[in-house]
Amino acid sequence: MYRVLRIVLVVAAIAGMAYQGRIKEDFENYKMHAIPALMYHSISDVPDGWPADLCVTPEVFEAHLKYLQAQGYNVVTAPQAMVLLKSRQNVMNTVILTFDDGYENNYTVAFPLLKKYGFRGSFYIVGKDVGQVSSQDGVKRYMNFTQLKEMHQQGMEIGSHSMSHDPLTSIKPNFLPWEIYQPLNLFYEKMGFWISGIAFPNGAYNDAIIAEIRKYFKYEYGFSGQTGCNTLKIVTEMPFALRRAGVYDRGHGARDVEKVLQKCYIFGYLEAKGVPVGLLDKGRRMLQGIL
Ligand SMILES: [Zn+2]
Repeated sequence: MYRVLRIVLVVAAIAGMAYQGRIKEDFENYKMHAIPALMYHSISDVPDGWPADLCVTPEVFEAHLKYLQAQGYNVVTAPQAMVLLKSRQNVMNTVILTFDDGYENNYTVAFPLLKKYGFRGSFYIVGKDVGQVSSQDGVKRYMNFTQLKEMHQQGMEIGSHSMSHDPLTSIKPNFLPWEIYQPLNLFYEKMGFWISGIAFPNGAYNDAIIAEIRKYFKYEYGFSGQTGCNTLKIVTEMPFALRRAGVYDRGHGARDVEKVLQKCYIFGYLEAKGVPVGLLDKGRRMLQGIL
């Protein structure tokens, strides 16, 4: 009953603001305190046997970077974003670019392009795949420790994407320490620095997983699979459920990244207003025409 009442109140408040024309102003104000995170995987054509959604071509990726530059975006790593939010600065047009799975083209293609634009990226690496070539579901080449170390030295962030890439919610509890602790240890041993972030494979996590992560103090944050924006409230109250959304090549060039950013801001805005997660998409359709 309370839930229904809350939804009615939120909808009424949003409709009221829209009626008075204040919603645009309120939304722009929210954006000053919210940082979206975008997720990429392979920066390449679609190799045989790969799902298309894992790949964004180098040309399209560069079109996305050009768009971010033209819009004046400050492109930062996840830890930098957390510092900015905690310092309560205006973070309008700040974004985190993330790359999952550790494909070799992240080093050969994405890394030089990010440097060309003066941007940074956060790369989440699967522990067991580093330096490997796998032929499961098409040939996949992964970055090695020398490449990862070089990227780290040049300002990129390296984080964990677990050891095996199996969704952590499907892992037997006695294997969780290996999935979570081992990358910390392995990356320190091989590259000489501590990582501080984890991106959950498939975005899947639960309270038991967060409790396991919190045992190892080096971890400071984790990316969930929930679309939205990161705010002071989220990085302080739920640092292991940061918001992030995938960018896919839908054939519209920079327009594809623009649309995902808008979706992140609207979802985050509605979430901040108390709209339950299950209703965010409905809310977005309601707001799209107004904003
Ligand atoms: Zn992944």
